[in-house]
Amino acid sequence: MDQKSAITIGIPRAMLYYRYGVLWKAFFEELQVPVVISPPTTRELLESGSSIAVDESCLSAKIFMGHVNALLGKCDAVFIPRYSSLNHNAVFCTRFEGLFDQTRNVFRNTPQRFISCNIDEKEKSSEETAFVSLGRELGFSARESKNAYARAWKADQRQQKLWAKEQEALAAKPGRKILLVGHSYILSDPYLQKPIIGWLEENGATCLRADRMDRVKARKACTGFSPTCRWIMNEELIGSTVLWKQKADGIILVSAFPCGPDSMTNELLTRRLKDIPLMNLVLDAQTGTAGVETRLESFLDIIQFRKGEEV
Ligand code: SF4
Repeated sequence: MDQKSAITIGIPRAMLYYRYGVLWKAFFEELQVPVVISPPTTRELLESGSSIAVDESCLSAKIFMGHVNALLGKCDAVFIPRYSSLNHNAVFCTRFEGLFDQTRNVFRNTPQRFISCNIDEKEKSSEETAFVSLGRELGFSARESKNAYARAWKADQRQQKLWAKEQEALAAKPGRKILLVGHSYILSDPYLQKPIIGWLEENGATCLRADRMDRVKARKACTGFSPTCRWIMNEELIGSTVLWKQKADGIILVSAFPCGPDSMTNELLTRRLKDIPLMNLVLDAQTGTAGVETRLESFLDIIQFRKGEEV
């Protein structure tokens, strides 16, 4: 079958794209499958997603639907992998398991095709198994798919190391440092991050990111703090916070409304971290980032006051 050269894959620039996007793009590029990425989030894109998504969706899922909407008709198939588990104790938020089916349902009246693969180690479907089977579905041989995955995995590992190194360099910088604890799809989304990271940096603070620390070290560090946390990304965020809090002057927990995993783990962090200024920022589709600046300003004042600097 020469489906190989004929298909263009669309990838929504949202949710797990900010964690696995390097791997996904490298996999398709290795197979020489053209990829289209949806444009960066804007207010209009968020509003289009909010109007289509199921009401109960979190802000991130609403933004995701806006990105899928932006890809309609621009690719042959939109790629939405199902990430379920990496091992028995490390699972993803259930929204990632349901995202493919939910999206297909939301866009059921359009001719758009969707493709997926299942990453579910608990069910013996590793990431490699999932991507090799995706490659086969696209018309490539098992060997071609396996090689493409191996190279994509290496590219992903390089990117992770680079991020962790960047954070170490930022932590070593002099001056006020704020540790941001939030999922990559919030902290890397240009629309959501600008009023937070952009504002803090403009006002002289260095932003450390808990989502960009060494994942293995972070998961280990979480075990001593919360041995029962099973959501893999929250586990990493908790562990990073534990490891990096002494380098920071303040911590900001950033989450999307209504997020089940964050509501539990942020509560845990708020109760347990008593020796450092901590602020909770919850973003939703209505207010978006309005009012964030005022809160950040007061937070920096508190830090300055605490350090005995003039406010
Ligand atoms: S972890 Fe929270 S923000 Fe992320 S997909 Fe799940 S509910 Fe949404």
